[in-house]
Amino acid sequence: MTAEVILKLSNVESAYGPIKAIRGVSLRVERGQIATVLGSNGAGKTTILKTISGIIDPRKGTVEFKGMNITAQDPAYIVQRGLVHVPEGREVFPLLSVHDNLLMGAYTRRDRDAVLRDLETVYHYFPILKERERQEAGLLSGGQQQMLAISRALMAAPELMLLDEPSLGLSPKLTKEIFEIVVRINRERGTTMLLVEQNANMALNAA
Ligand code: ATP
Repeated sequence: MTAEVILKLSNVESAYGPIKAIRGVSLRVERGQIATVLGSNGAGKTTILKTISGIIDPRKGTVEFKGMNITAQDPAYIVQRGLVHVPEGREVFPLLSVHDNLLMGAYTRRDRDAVLRDLETVYHYFPILKERERQEAGLLSGGQQQMLAISRALMAAPELMLLDEPSLGLSPKLTKEIFEIVVRINRERGTTMLLVEQNANMALNAA
């Protein structure tokens, strides 16, 4: 039996005004995989992820998720279908508490009991977030903010998670910890991961 293709890009081209950032990008990810996109600064990795999650509308090509054409759909619609994006630089809400950041990740969900269970799961993966749950997210360290960004995405109960350079600015030790958790989430929850990295060694080890 062949595995389900959860994500498929065909000949995608995206631009910022006159600047063509990516062209002719085709890729496929199978359900349950950890897949990685490698490339140097400015190669267009972030643009690929933004095009998948609907933040940028492509000029050409198609994006399919679970067989649905989601090209240029509204990002909120795409999140509700089960695809979440952990952006480069974390982008946590600095003035909200850790706890409220996590609940923001679940804001489209109506299954309250399952949300509370997922909150416990996230605190189980990252005990430091439980310790800091009442603290403003802006006061966390860079590594802790990365943990929070991943956790906030998990609160949307995703089937596919896009991770943009989770190792950015982190020490080798913290990077290793983050990658271990990503692999663990993939194994335990079956979440498919598409990982963008400059840190090719870490990414290839995980993928
Ligand atoms: P990095 O590893 O540095 O994050 P990247 O591979 O993710 O790089 P992108 O951020 O996707 O690369 O950028 C691809 C190209 O698009 C680059 O040439 C960049 O300068 C350009 N670009 C990105 N964002 C914008 C923008 N908002 N306006 C204009 N050009 C942009």
